[in-house]
Amino acid sequence: MKHIIVIGGGVAGMQCAAELAAHNFKVTLLEKDSDMGGKIRGWHKLFPTFTPADEVLSGLRLKLAQAQNITIMTGSKAVEISSTKVALASGKELECDAVVIATGYTLFDARIKEEYGYGIYDNVITSADLEEMFNKGDVRMKDGSTPRRIAILHCVGSRDEKVCQRHCSKVCCVTGVKQAIELKQLYPAADVFNFYMDIRMFGPGYEEMYREAQQTYNVHFVRGRISEVSPNIDKRLQIKAEDTLTGRPLRMGVDMLVLLTGMRANDDNSHFAANSNLRCQPSGFMQPRDSFLHNTESNVEGIFYAGAITAPKNVGEALNDGATAALRVKAWLESKK
Ligand SMILES: Cc1cc2nc3c(=O)[nH]c(=O)nc-3n(C[C@H](O)[C@H](O)[C@H](O)COP(=O)(O)OP(=O)(O)OC[C@H]3O[C@@H](n4cnc5c(N)ncnc54)[C@H](O)[C@@H]3O)c2cc1C
Ligand code: SF4
Repeated sequence: MKHIIVIGGGVAGMQCAAELAAHNFKVTLLEKDSDMGGKIRGWHKLFPTFTPADEVLSGLRLKLAQAQNITIMTGSKAVEISSTKVALASGKELECDAVVIATGYTLFDARIKEEYGYGIYDNVITSADLEEMFNKGDVRMKDGSTPRRIAILHCVGSRDEKVCQRHCSKVCCVTGVKQAIELKQLYPAADVFNFYMDIRMFGPGYEEMYREAQQTYNVHFVRGRISEVSPNIDKRLQIKAEDTLTGRPLRMGVDMLVLLTGMRANDDNSHFAANSNLRCQPSGFMQPRDSFLHNTESNVEGIFYAGAITAPKNVGEALNDGATAALRVKAWLESKK
């Protein structure tokens, strides 16, 4: 029985491992953390349907539990990769017939954009922090009071030459709209403002959510980038921006600022590229063999990709990649017979 190693136990890796097992391969799924699920373990409800992230994860866990011939190794970080061998940080080496890399992405560290005061001022949080608060059912300011005015800032650590992240992270506009709706559901009397450069609502149901946010929930959208945040005497946050539609400077006091942090490439990617002859894109995400017919294959025979390792993707796309990569592995192994 051929042995396939899937590296990364996020949604893409879990899906790929389950599909490979269904095609009668022996599969080892490596996850560096103590549990599987990747980033969505931290998310509350998923756009565009507001499906609980837990529901998607439970479905994937069940699929893995029902599959034969899968070994799941949590706490196992892959450090060296070839098409026939994967070395772990523990020093252990595993032999295989093909490898699928599904190691996902890294959240941009909002502290790098010092001007927004993350880690400096209370009540400046990231979109990931807000998901955690939604999960706990408790969205409050540091002093325990409820926020009355909230600003959500788009493109933090994306489309930004200064921090070497030129790409659009693709999912943060819709995340900002989803989070604005959830905030209004929680606090109907609160004012929620989204500060954006462009609104990119590319997926099915996204544009409808954007309209619903305005028409049903009265979420405000301001075209402009916040340039500076400072604390007020009354402990609110003073934000400075320019409304680029009217051309006027704008100052506003808010209780909470949510930074929509982008998806950046993992630091490991360049190491894997250098040691395994894999190609990276200028953004740092891995380069598939081509963007159309072979977008879950790498440029190295026997090494495949699934999920956000190659570009910012939503959960549906990462799941589709997982299933496609499994079929590609199967076709490639059959072609070698
Ligand atoms: C704030 C925010 C909210 C979002 N909300 C939504 C939403 O509502 N709906 C939606 O469709 N999408 C959403 N997304 C996008 C979603 O997070 C991604 O689509 C999804 O996480 C991609 O899954 P993945 O498996 O490719 O990567 P990841 O989730 O990053 O999983 C990769 C896994 O690989 C593991 N790993 C990494 N390196 C190694 C290694 N060397 N060895 C072993 N394991 C390793 C990691 O620990 C991780 O478990 C959101 C993104 C953000 C930033
Ligand atoms: S999806 Fe929206 S918020 Fe995210 S980087 Fe692109 S334009 Fe900015």
